[in-house]
Amino acid sequence: MLHFPVFLDLKGRTALVLGTGEVAERKAAILRQAGAEIRFAEAFAPDLLEGCAIAIGADAPQPELEALAAACRARGLPVNVVDKPELCTALMPAIIDRDPMTIAISTGGAAPVLARQVRQRIEAVLPMGLGRVAAMAERFKSAVRRRLPDLVARRRFLDAALSGPAADLAMAGREAEADAAFRRALDGADAAPPGIVHLVGAGPGAGDLLTLRALRLLGEADVIVHDRLGTEEVLDLARRDAERIFVGKARANHCMRQEEINALLVRLAKEGKRVVRLKGGDPLVFGRGGEEAEALAEAGIPCEVVPGVTAALACAAGAGIPLTHREAARAVTFVTGHRRDGRVDVSGLVRPGQTLAIYMGITMLPQIRDGLVAEGLDPATPAAVVERGGTSRQRVLRGTLEEVAARAQAWVETGPALLLVGEAVGRGAPAWAGARLAA
Ligand code: SAH
Repeated sequence: MLHFPVFLDLKGRTALVLGTGEVAERKAAILRQAGAEIRFAEAFAPDLLEGCAIAIGADAPQPELEALAAACRARGLPVNVVDKPELCTALMPAIIDRDPMTIAISTGGAAPVLARQVRQRIEAVLPMGLGRVAAMAERFKSAVRRRLPDLVARRRFLDAALSGPAADLAMAGREAEADAAFRRALDGADAAPPGIVHLVGAGPGAGDLLTLRALRLLGEADVIVHDRLGTEEVLDLARRDAERIFVGKARANHCMRQEEINALLVRLAKEGKRVVRLKGGDPLVFGRGGEEAEALAEAGIPCEVVPGVTAALACAAGAGIPLTHREAARAVTFVTGHRRDGRVDVSGLVRPGQTLAIYMGITMLPQIRDGLVAEGLDPATPAAVVERGGTSRQRVLRGTLEEVAARAQAWVETGPALLLVGEAVGRGAPAWAGARLAA
């Protein structure tokens, strides 16, 4: 080990910063974050070190920096001189701050850029709310000690509790519920932990359009309840040994009725499982996430929704179509072309300056076109059908509403496909988007 890492408590203590430029300011800002009081100086004098806990040499002349380093070394005071490892006894690491948790990375001065890259990667996988979990653990520290004096039992409990529902709630900033869940877990420390259901948006199906939170939950789940809608690539990212339950919801081919799915989620959570209910796109956009959340709430099961990239956004981005445009559209409407009673209802949908994103509309496309035209929409309005939008197998059909409606049903291969209609649909950068996807 090249250097020994320690964490300094600088609260209320003095840190000397030699230099006054931008680098000095940056170092001072980090030290201030740790609660240090900064003593700035432009030239070095030994008595500046009086009462200091650490010294930083920034943008000062070399002899000043050398004098600072020698004086600190003589006093046993940690000193860091920017970009001059030979003068340092302490290195400034790349820092990930999840207060009260801190992660510090160093390459021993060999490649600070690499340390920053590693930091970014760790930042990406560590949820922002992790600090709140640490804070919760701290709140319960003495209670846990009292309840579980045995070290092994305590560790086992904390292991489960700090990756269980209480931790999820803390991470989501729901502190009161998190504390209640933690207390319940502690009270029944020997009983099975209560389960939780996460309604997770899988996005359009491309693994890298998943949110970091969804990725983490997929890695932690005991069970994943999923349906069709192109979630295979996403499913591959889930914990290998997680149970997978397919409740397929391809249109007109419902494997399981909604009530049965609701009951399944409740049962799994009551068994103490951490359940991910994975849904295409966003769970709350034509995803019946609301119905599942209601059923879970009725059964007293904790439930969290994780948003996903909904089809309209994935299709628009993938096809280079702006949903709003300062000259062409100042509103977007997400609407379904598929009503429960099988009828098409587009009344009130035609308004100028608006883009329509019509989900589940392909089978009813001729009726939708007729309805929109009857409501006053020009059949020459730009339109597009995007199939498997946001995935590597995306296809786009463009034209006027009239043309697209005439061709789309024969053109669509497997679906899913979304219809976009409006003046803005004719704008944007289709050639660029096409080229990108082809590459
Ligand atoms: N919750 C989902 C929508 C479910 S409804 C979401 O937020 O995206 C199913 C409809 O969504 C399909 O009929 C289709 O119109 C649309 N859809 C879903 N994924 C799609 C994709 N990758 N490309 C195009 N349309 C998609």
